[in-house]
Amino acid sequence: MSVTGSPDLSSSEARTPARTPDATAPGTDASDVTIPEYVQPPDRSTLPLVFTAPRRGKPPVHWADLDPAQRRGAMEAAGHRAYRARQLSAHYFEGLRDDPDTWTDLPVAVRGELASTFMPPLLTPVRELTCDDGDTVKSLWKLHDGALVESVLMRYPDRVTMCVSSQAGCGMACPFCATGQGGLQRNMSTAEIVEQVVDGARKLAQGTLADAEAGRTPRVSNVVFMGMGEPLANYKAVSGALRQLTTPNPDGLGMSARGITVSTVGLVPRIHELATEGIPVTLALSLHAPDDELRDELVPVNTRWNVDEVVDAAWEYAKTTKRRVSIEYILIRDVNDQPQRAEQLAKVLRRRGTWGWVHVNLIPLNPTPGSRWTASRRRDEDEFVRRLQARGVPVTVRDTRGREIDGACGQLAAGSADIDASVQVPARRG
Ligand code: SF4
Repeated sequence: MSVTGSPDLSSSEARTPARTPDATAPGTDASDVTIPEYVQPPDRSTLPLVFTAPRRGKPPVHWADLDPAQRRGAMEAAGHRAYRARQLSAHYFEGLRDDPDTWTDLPVAVRGELASTFMPPLLTPVRELTCDDGDTVKSLWKLHDGALVESVLMRYPDRVTMCVSSQAGCGMACPFCATGQGGLQRNMSTAEIVEQVVDGARKLAQGTLADAEAGRTPRVSNVVFMGMGEPLANYKAVSGALRQLTTPNPDGLGMSARGITVSTVGLVPRIHELATEGIPVTLALSLHAPDDELRDELVPVNTRWNVDEVVDAAWEYAKTTKRRVSIEYILIRDVNDQPQRAEQLAKVLRRRGTWGWVHVNLIPLNPTPGSRWTASRRRDEDEFVRRLQARGVPVTVRDTRGREIDGACGQLAAGSADIDASVQVPARRG
């Protein structure tokens, strides 16, 4: 799930500081609020919701698709001793090395065979664009079947965030989203997701990024599933990727679940399932409207699970995992940015309690080319924030990175469908 190119959830770059809920905050009684007709109604998406990905040729199985027991079994099946699996995992997950020439603790005679068997190339670089003085790097990848996906690396003074794709395309049909308008091509595999993070980590470790001087955070500290696709519609691969990211070295990347955010438009059964995985990642619910009438149009999956159902599921997620849920709300001029909708949003959230279970991230719309919608006026944005704060709802306005490089989700891929991968960025190993 993604709409903007800078899906970082931290508040440190946000323009509006978060506040502690204040039950005594002044303001009109939200229960009196009537949502007016919106001035500029969006076109209802004519695309169908697609929950089951089309069957296409599966990507080759990669080391990052396997759990430690499967790796040992695969190593033995390939005619090698099981302990070699741990060596190979240390190279891949800990050392970020996929160049067999660097696997010096493995016999020279087997290195090439292990690389071709267990680490087939999954992501072919097509294009790489940077902005924000080199701190934002957006990558366009071609998958084995030609599908294009994007990832974004964002460097901040205190952390590095990778935004990853989980599907090629998306079946959720959100009408303001370039990816959604392209439909769903296929689910990505666990390893295709993990490889996006490993690539970013490798670039940092190897110092291949511009301005990669000492003093920067040297590793990927945060991962957000806000690239192309609806992560919870590809649940098995995404939950597998979460395990690979959080399993300690050398069997996984050893990241903290606290640094990982999974974004969803609200697939309620999968939200409940995620809550029981034992990996307490942050859940980001893309609400975008507090009322069913508008949300049915902006987020078509609302016709399956409505506002009350998805907010209930988010609340239960927070209760089970003890992780604060992030409510994502794109501000679209004259569509969902009216003061009354801010009041309604506060009411919807506060109805579930004020124990700090939720935080609102307001996102200035990054319009897709040709879009009839645009970002809210600054004064409307400020008033929306003020109304939420007055109701004691913690809120930030997201700093949006990457706008100058087709930052919105799917824009780079949409504009590059005819690119020949061989003439852009050479493939790289190691
Ligand atoms: S169409 Fe898919 S990728 Fe686009 S905003 Fe909706 S859920 Fe996210």
